[in-house]
Amino acid sequence: MVNIMNYEIKYDTRDNIASLLSENNPEKVELIRKMAHDVLLENCGSGVYYRGLIEFSNRCVSDCYYCGIRRSNADVNRFDLTMDEIVDSALWCAKNGYGSIVLQSGENSSRDFIDFVCRAVETIKKRSVSEELPNGLGVTLCIGEQSEADYAKLFAAGAHRYLLRIETSNRELFKTIHPEAQSFDNRVECLRRLKRTGFQVGTGVMYGLPGQTCQMLADDILFFKDMDIDMLGMGPYIRHSSTPLKKNKNQFIIERDDLLRVSLLMIAVCRLVLKDINIAATTALQTIDPTGREKGLSFGANVVMPQLTPVDYRKSYLLYDNKPCQEDTKEECKNCLSARVGSVGREVHYNEWGDSPHFKRKGESKN
Ligand code: SF4
Repeated sequence: MVNIMNYEIKYDTRDNIASLLSENNPEKVELIRKMAHDVLLENCGSGVYYRGLIEFSNRCVSDCYYCGIRRSNADVNRFDLTMDEIVDSALWCAKNGYGSIVLQSGENSSRDFIDFVCRAVETIKKRSVSEELPNGLGVTLCIGEQSEADYAKLFAAGAHRYLLRIETSNRELFKTIHPEAQSFDNRVECLRRLKRTGFQVGTGVMYGLPGQTCQMLADDILFFKDMDIDMLGMGPYIRHSSTPLKKNKNQFIIERDDLLRVSLLMIAVCRLVLKDINIAATTALQTIDPTGREKGLSFGANVVMPQLTPVDYRKSYLLYDNKPCQEDTKEECKNCLSARVGSVGREVHYNEWGDSPHFKRKGESKN
């Protein structure tokens, strides 16, 4: 029996953060969870916000070593949704009370691609206006590294949030999971460009990568703080069998239970340190535990991303093996997720954008 009466949860230094992330005493983990939950309620409230996820193209010019749809993976059936398919999916979200969508694709910086995304955003913004959504749907983009001029175009088209994951803030580890042409410095510079453009900026990392330590994850959290980010979308590293990083036969590099614990502690400690940002309970959590997303919510997350990609295309958008929710219709996904959210005593806030309170507060302090 461990005495936890005098257990103090400290997250003021790198060492203290790393020590929380490596905690494996269940009673102490529960104390960290409770504290993170209290910080969430105090800074963001108990609401959970939907981001309808539309994966609209799996073509990618990049070649990340861990990703199932990387450029060099010849086994992938490449697809692009049509403008009508994208807009119809978005309007379904608006009709069903999802206040926001995420448009996600592989990386592509061609003129035609950027113009296409701008037209899609403009059309969605215009056509989703209603009494419930007087400013239309909130739109988050997740389409990779772009020039500052293109970020400005996408922002002017009406997108107001952007997710660009750094994957790891450790330069050396970054090099082990990306080819030389993909630079850490450029990724960081793109995050700065997005901030200058006016986006609410999200980033995130993978945990459980080969060679990664809790000290490195602590550095990731300090990186998020230093970059003053508004949103986080993180996930466990889950191998894809057709990638250079597959190495191990096992799907998880570390034991599943350890990976789940670290995943949940990352959410909780990010909540403790960063307080009022939005944090997603990502689908990847459900791959390592059937109730992974609910657990993510109870450890301090406040965003979930229901799957909207048409079922026929989902098998061609596998960033990792055993991605869940491949067959569910969007109606099934909506009902399943609201039940999952309700099961941890939380409620979906429909017809709201659910912007990052952190971003709003920054704006207020400038006025
Ligand atoms: S992680 Fe993103 S940028 Fe990297 S290969 Fe996959 S889709 Fe492309």
